[in-house]
Amino acid sequence: MIANEKAKTSSDFEQVREDVIGILAGSDFLSADEVRILPPGLLDSLAKAKAFGLCGTKEHGGAELAISEANAVITAAATFDASVASAMVIHNFLSTPCLENAVDLIGKDEILRRTASGEALCAFALTEHGAGSAPRYISATAVKTETGYRINGTKIWIGLGAWAENVVCFAKVPDQGNRVSAFLVDTKSPGFSVQHEHKTMGLRGIVQNTLKFEDVEVPFDRCLSGHGNGYNVAKNSMNKGRLGVAAMSLGVALRATQVVSLYVSQRKIGTQFLVGNPFVQKQIGDMVQRIECMKKILRFAEAAPQDAPLAEYMATVAKVICSEWANEIANEALQLLGGRGYEEDVLVGRMYRDARIMKIFEGPTEVLLAHLDRIFSSKATSVSMEVAFGQIDAADLYAKTLVKVRGDHANGADREVYRGWAIALSFAIGVCRRDEAAKGTVDYLSRRLALILDKVEEQGRGGEHLPQLIEDFLASANGSIRKPNFDQTFMSVKGFV
Ligand SMILES: Cc1cc2nc3c(=O)[nH]c(=O)nc-3n(C[C@H](O)[C@H](O)[C@H](O)COP(=O)(O)OP(=O)(O)OC[C@H]3O[C@@H](n4cnc5c(N)ncnc54)[C@H](O)[C@@H]3O)c2cc1C
Repeated sequence: MIANEKAKTSSDFEQVREDVIGILAGSDFLSADEVRILPPGLLDSLAKAKAFGLCGTKEHGGAELAISEANAVITAAATFDASVASAMVIHNFLSTPCLENAVDLIGKDEILRRTASGEALCAFALTEHGAGSAPRYISATAVKTETGYRINGTKIWIGLGAWAENVVCFAKVPDQGNRVSAFLVDTKSPGFSVQHEHKTMGLRGIVQNTLKFEDVEVPFDRCLSGHGNGYNVAKNSMNKGRLGVAAMSLGVALRATQVVSLYVSQRKIGTQFLVGNPFVQKQIGDMVQRIECMKKILRFAEAAPQDAPLAEYMATVAKVICSEWANEIANEALQLLGGRGYEEDVLVGRMYRDARIMKIFEGPTEVLLAHLDRIFSSKATSVSMEVAFGQIDAADLYAKTLVKVRGDHANGADREVYRGWAIALSFAIGVCRRDEAAKGTVDYLSRRLALILDKVEEQGRGGEHLPQLIEDFLASANGSIRKPNFDQTFMSVKGFV
């Protein structure tokens, strides 16, 4: 059984958190969003506050925080600006662990020192044109040479790409049966280039780039993953990254709910304050309830023993629920703010744009939920999930709710996502009901689960006509409105034909 751990905090944590908040509270993120770059000097100030060495060892100049503490700093950062929080997640949770776990890396202490101090930002490059939500289809290659590897390939949407001194790049190694390895690429290496800056709808304070690797030579010691073990390296980082995204999402949800709560308390419509409206009260009550669930799920996921499947499942559950609900909350808050919500300087509009990517990167919601369902539905792996439910004293939820849903299984990919939701919400209920004081969150989650179970049933009926429906729609739309001209590589719209 797993204890309901209460997060311990250290004085280092208090210091880092206060320093980061102090820096961010005095920064102008509205202008940063407009000009698409963080305020000058901000990254340096954050680096001095150890924001890029959150979990790095003190020996390397890091703050040596626990994951829960690092996440609390990220949540605090996201209440001001998601671009900053995202930079911290990429550097601290995605890239740095790949370096820390590298066995052969020569000069590792110096590299880790420069990384933890923020002198050398590090990006994480997995996604390609042909491989986003399914990274197993990456096509970058690392061909073995006498001195190391020669990397060729193109990576897209790489956060911090153009600002990084090093990039962790994933590529297939033909000499190892095309298994994936991770490589540390110095961005000054001949053959490395930044090709493009993506104009994203949110996270405008930092860069996301297309990176090209043309015959980039890396020595043997810069292979970070041993032989073809790159997916495990990526998985380890992405589990941490998912907790980081959940922490960012919590920050967005907290700030949006705070802004809208203040608004409804002060906004008078006619003779009544908006807060007096029972519908409005219910809406904000639901936001607060979701925030309480998000906190509990995240805290539990951070404390789960890292080597057990439970930790992976909980990181996924935390990422999905927190990112989805941050989006719901930002959307609802914007609506409650009326026309003011649509104004950039009321903050929630930017949060709404920034939060949108949280449901997509580190695994889109649907892909993560379908993955949970496949673990649950496969004979080979379902036992690990049953054990995980047992570890949170929720064997009954597994037996009563989920096994019934699996009985319903008809190999329909449409239902994978809804069953994934049922699994995620059941984990969340299991976690929340461990806390006597959290009855409200359990009731809330149970209502959401009931809605999803209806969906599972509904999806089981029919659906064969849908491909035809899409075809008919396209035929009709293409006949009545101009057809977008897709650029075939990137699938962006290049005018209309
Ligand atoms: C701002 C930004 C920053 C990013 N930062 C990084 C980074 O630093 N490093 C990096 O490597 N990558 C990064 N990415 C890439 C990101 O991780 C990918 O966009 C993401 O993995 C999705 O891949 P895709 O965009 O190719 O979507 P696709 O693979 O085209 O999928 C599109 C959509 O299809 C649906 N879908 C897919 N599979 C299924 C399924 N099985 N069931 C149901 N629905 C499904 C989902 O809704 C999904 O969102 C970033 C992207 C953005 C936009």
